[in-house]
Amino acid sequence: MSVFAIIVLMILLDRVTKTYQPRKMAALDRISLHVEPREFVIIVGPSGAGKSTLLKILTREEKPSSGKIIIGGIDYERLKDKNIPRLRRKIGVVFQDFKLLPNKSVFENVAFALEIAGYSNREIRYTVPKVLNIVGLKNKAKNYPRELSGGEMQRVAIARAVVRQPKILIADEPTGNLDPKHAWDVIKVLERINKFGTTVLLTTHNQEIVNRLKRRVVTIRDGKIVSDRANSGYNE
Ligand code: ADP
Ligand code: MG
Repeated sequence: MSVFAIIVLMILLDRVTKTYQPRKMAALDRISLHVEPREFVIIVGPSGAGKSTLLKILTREEKPSSGKIIIGGIDYERLKDKNIPRLRRKIGVVFQDFKLLPNKSVFENVAFALEIAGYSNREIRYTVPKVLNIVGLKNKAKNYPRELSGGEMQRVAIARAVVRQPKILIADEPTGNLDPKHAWDVIKVLERINKFGTTVLLTTHNQEIVNRLKRRVVTIRDGKIVSDRANSGYNE
């Protein structure tokens, strides 16, 4: 692998295998995947295919059994535990179930991600409204999660995930709990974040989203990539 490839790629996986239990089938079986900066990649595949495992390997929630991983110039083989926060800063994550803090307002949920990172109150007051504006929730800043629709909650979760400007946004089935209209609102926000320059990895079961998005689609089955195609018809 050339040094050049490592520098220009945002995500480089080389024959990554993950076996949770010995003698059982590998959850990921020699996955090789290259993603360029600013790409928007949809990962599809049946339940149990290994999609979430792939994303957890990227965030270092799970360690691979073998294979090489380089994310944003960080080589996972050389990654020390003390540097994991630095890695996580490069990667924002959203999940199917939002994971908002129920006792905090929309503003406070997003601000919390900055507070724990040591941002000043002044920076927080400046940054949070900007990101709420991007996800279309500026007028909901004072509301609490229980007062929001599922689609709005997911957009708060996205705001929280991107408020520290990660290089990569990972969204694991973010529309799994949403009806089609709210699902599409969430997808449009992901597209906007991508346009600002963030690499996006999205997993979904929703074929309509896959068809409408017209982006690169990687299909995983039994832990293997069975197809990787540029979705036709997309004009930038
Ligand atoms: P997907 O997200 O595509 O539904 P997963 O990555 O969650 O698939 O799971 C892939 C395979 O790995 C499945 O067979 C699943 O049962 C197994 N698996 C996932 N997480 C664990 C775990 N923590 N321990 C053991 N097996 C797991
Ligand atoms: Mg999953």
